[in-house]
Amino acid sequence: MQKEVIDTVDIAIIGAGAAGLAAGIFAGETVSGAEPLRIVILDGANSIGAKILVSGGGRCNVTHEVVTPTDFFGNRRIIKNVLASFSVEQTIAWFASLGVDLKREETGKLFPVTDKARTILNALVDRCRELGVTMCPRHRVHGIERATGPNAGFRIHHAHGTVLAKHVILATGGRSLPKSGSDGFGYELARQMGHHVTPTVPALVPLVLDDRMFHNRLSGLSHEADLATIVNGKTVDTRTGSLLWTHFGISGPVVMDASRFWCLAKERGEPAEIYGNFLPGQTREQIRQWFMEEMKDHPRRLLVNTLAQKLPLRFAESLVQYAKCDSQAAVAQLPRKDRDHLLTLLTKFPFPVARDRGWNYAEVTAGGVPLEEINFRTMESKIAPGLYLVGEILDCDGRIGGFNFQWAWAAGRLAGRAAAGF
Ligand SMILES: Cc1cc2nc3c(=O)[nH]c(=O)nc-3n(C[C@H](O)[C@H](O)[C@H](O)COP(=O)(O)OP(=O)(O)OC[C@H]3O[C@@H](n4cnc5c(N)ncnc54)[C@H](O)[C@@H]3O)c2cc1C
Repeated sequence: MQKEVIDTVDIAIIGAGAAGLAAGIFAGETVSGAEPLRIVILDGANSIGAKILVSGGGRCNVTHEVVTPTDFFGNRRIIKNVLASFSVEQTIAWFASLGVDLKREETGKLFPVTDKARTILNALVDRCRELGVTMCPRHRVHGIERATGPNAGFRIHHAHGTVLAKHVILATGGRSLPKSGSDGFGYELARQMGHHVTPTVPALVPLVLDDRMFHNRLSGLSHEADLATIVNGKTVDTRTGSLLWTHFGISGPVVMDASRFWCLAKERGEPAEIYGNFLPGQTREQIRQWFMEEMKDHPRRLLVNTLAQKLPLRFAESLVQYAKCDSQAAVAQLPRKDRDHLLTLLTKFPFPVARDRGWNYAEVTAGGVPLEEINFRTMESKIAPGLYLVGEILDCDGRIGGFNFQWAWAAGRLAGRAAAGF
């Protein structure tokens, strides 16, 4: 029988994503005794940082110029405290100290000046190495238990043996992009330590529409829209932003941000609908008046050309066809019934959402380990002292724009410093 390999460390971090690497760096930088701490990061993936590399379209949107609790969903009181511990300015300075300058784009998103996510990953990994943090890819953890004896810490069972650790930082992410290594098994590890896990659903995920819709023809087209998500007859979310039509349905920031509400409702078995107003900020009555003026001033203009003054032509054509109106008819010939129907589609378009696009396309996970089960000053578990939880595994998800990484850096820093005894 093969002998079990047992290593003993001060801090074992499970997961080498954004939160785990940040935790490793901040723990490694914390000098708490004469001897440097033994810190190991175990990760199940073959190579470290796959998700960082694909983030932000390969450019890694590191953070946002303004980060507030309202950019997140979850217990905002706790989120506020975690965010307050590491401001955006501190994040920028931290990256500068790692040799990475960030630039701000018009949208407020911050990226590395190189426009390469690799710059971010290399900086984090290099700093871990400099600090003597051992990084172990291909070390999937399949079990965690309390070791016996006073101050005995934890036994972590991984693909090649066992690690005995005084402190454990659980940074296994959620379920989004499972091929990156974050397949949700971290929730099982948290459960093994006595934690609860709220239902998890994809967030920041594109939505698939009924294939009888016209989305396929518009693939690649994007324009502004207001979206309203209605659950059980109640409006739970309204937002404005860029909507992207794709071969499967709809995507783009406004859809991605709204998706969590639709996914959560479906998970709960509640009826959920998403409506679009393609003339953002304008009411049905305002559009009706504009239409009447157009009919009066330019009666012979084609219906599609009238609409195309306010909408992309391709979209106007598809909408007119969908409304079963005659696209070649002059605007003044539009029967009132058709006009009313078109006004409804323009300002309260019921998207026939068939499903979300699934974990392979979700950027983040909504739901997870309740924030109330951790101490927000340290990210230490209130249920299993000595265990810390950081990043996406927690029940906190941010909107699109660099917020999820900011959460990972801030939480990772708190846990790293606390576990190292700062
Ligand atoms: C395509 C895409 C683009 C994104 N773009 C952005 C962006 O630009 N800006 C932004 O703010 N956010 C972005 N996000 C979200 C952001 O990447 C995540 O919120 C963030 O990476 C979460 O960090 P984490 O460390 O908590 O988890 P993860 O990055 O998921 O890391 C978890 C790590 O744990 C490891 N692991 C899991 N289970 C085990 C186990 N049992 N044993 C050992 N190791 C394990 C995994 O292999 C993984 O390396 C994007 C996400 C995706 C999918």
